[in-house]
Amino acid sequence: MERPRDEEIHVVTKEEMEEVRRLLAKADARKESPLKGVRGGICPVCNQPTMDYADDLVYESYRTGERVVITGLTGTRCRNCSDQAYDLRSSGIIERVLEERVPGGYECTITTLGGERLGIYLPKDVVRKMDIEPRQKAIIKLLSRRRMVIEV
Ligand SMILES: [Zn+2]
Repeated sequence: MERPRDEEIHVVTKEEMEEVRRLLAKADARKESPLKGVRGGICPVCNQPTMDYADDLVYESYRTGERVVITGLTGTRCRNCSDQAYDLRSSGIIERVLEERVPGGYECTITTLGGERLGIYLPKDVVRKMDIEPRQKAIIKLLSRRRMVIEV
């Protein structure tokens, strides 16, 4: 697969993970991984009795040219070959993160403009796709403390 350009990389944020965990807590009352405490399971890859419980697994993938990274997952990891397997709950988290992601989001950084004003530079791809000009007026509508829409 072709390596995506930087502006296409989406790293799942802490807020998104919290949202997913909140949704999961509602759907799934079990709090602990059923694999917790497991040591010396047989590794499906290298066949050694070296699969241990782990709560720091990382999921990483490139989907439709986007990189998605999820940390802090639970499951088992092989001490010998580093193969990892997610438990059901973490598999569910991965599925939901991939489903709930708003497609076509553009990451940008909030910068300081001086005084108490903050600014956001529109990524090149956004400018190319939108019908906008410099000095044009735009309206910002606040939907919640963490969500806003810009209308031009
Ligand atoms: Zn192994």
